[in-house]
Amino acid sequence: MQELVLGDPPPPRASGKLARSWRDYQWAHVVPFALVHLLSLGAIWSGVTVEAVVVAVVLFWVRMFGVTGGYHRYFSHRTFKTGRVFQFVLALLAMSSAQRGVLWWAAHHRDHHKYSDSDRDVHSPVKWGFWHAHFGWIWDGNDKTNFHRVKDLAKYPELVWLDKHWLVPPVALGLACWALWGWSGLFVGFCLSTSVLWSATFTVNSLAHIWGKRRYETTDASRNNVWLALLTMGEGWHNNHHHYMASCRQGFYWWEIDMSYYVIKMLGWLGIVWDIREPPAKVYAPATETVSPVAAPVATADSEAA
Ligand SMILES: [Zn+2]
Ligand SMILES: [Zn+2]
Repeated sequence: MQELVLGDPPPPRASGKLARSWRDYQWAHVVPFALVHLLSLGAIWSGVTVEAVVVAVVLFWVRMFGVTGGYHRYFSHRTFKTGRVFQFVLALLAMSSAQRGVLWWAAHHRDHHKYSDSDRDVHSPVKWGFWHAHFGWIWDGNDKTNFHRVKDLAKYPELVWLDKHWLVPPVALGLACWALWGWSGLFVGFCLSTSVLWSATFTVNSLAHIWGKRRYETTDASRNNVWLALLTMGEGWHNNHHHYMASCRQGFYWWEIDMSYYVIKMLGWLGIVWDIREPPAKVYAPATETVSPVAAPVATADSEAA
């Protein structure tokens, strides 16, 4: 395995809302992203079949689970355990959403927790503005995987291979949609559902740091927001998550709907996953006891992953 040595994340930006000048974005990399959005409009030409709509809805929610249960709660935070086969399935599922490899995703996400809303947070809406946090940061020279952040994942050659060939799962899925359900299956079932899935996922980077309520005085601007939680299967409880990132469950109370956690619990009952980490008693203590300038984040992503 070739190890990539990158050192620390990008240095603090000089000034202004955007990271650098708009000219510095990797515009060539924007093309496939824009193309998937534009191809959704192909439905005007192909028409929309009932099957394609069902495929789009199913693929949106199944892959949303791949993003939150896979990329985020498993690979980035290791909040539950599973075997090597299901780990691979989770990686395939997550990556079918076309958000690069699980190592790339986890490395960037661990940096997000380590540097949250500081100059070194590559997708802070507070620092760099909404659109840069939503998707601009992806084309801001962030396409390399920092293997130092994900040593626990880099020991699996199959994950490293997938990380390098990250387009394989989404392209295979797109082709399958076209082969099974025709042009409408490709345009609506794959392209439209992928476009909507991207923006729904990205709301956690952008909106979940500016829109909602703060239960915990974390050192970042994270918020809890029920609408984002419903859209993203529980990721909207983002202030809870920044306060205690080691918990698989992000909706700390029964009324904080957290669909990903419920799915992971069911997988636990089936014996497919285990050691699902719950919020500790201290997060339920009265706010005056949990809130202090040093209360959060409780640990760095590196120590969580160890
Ligand atoms: Zn965050
Ligand atoms: Zn996280």
